[in-house]
Amino acid sequence: MSASNYNWVCFGCRTVVRYPKTSQQSPNCISCQEECFCLGYKVAVPKKDDVKAWANLQKDCRERSFAYSEQARENLVRRKHNIEREINRLEALGENKGRTPKINELKKELTN
Ligand SMILES: [Zn+2]
Repeated sequence: MSASNYNWVCFGCRTVVRYPKTSQQSPNCISCQEECFCLGYKVAVPKKDDVKAWANLQKDCRERSFAYSEQARENLVRRKHNIEREINRLEALGENKGRTPKINELKKELTN
């Protein structure tokens, strides 16, 4: 199997679309025009009439993308803590020509 294409699936229709992995956009399902879900190329696609396997696959994918967004949220919180700590550290050092803009920059980053 070529690794230059990924399998994209529509869980509703149980269809597969082969689409380049380099594409920034998700392909749409050929039947319902809904956006397809990217499976990559390692995950086996169930047979079209294997409803149970498709349901399991969808469940796995949901859990995986949930875990992924949880991880992303955690990283963001951790990053903000690091910035806060750095601001406190710089502020404790006192005013300084180079330090003040740096502190302001970090504070701005916090509000993003
Ligand atoms: Zn579809």
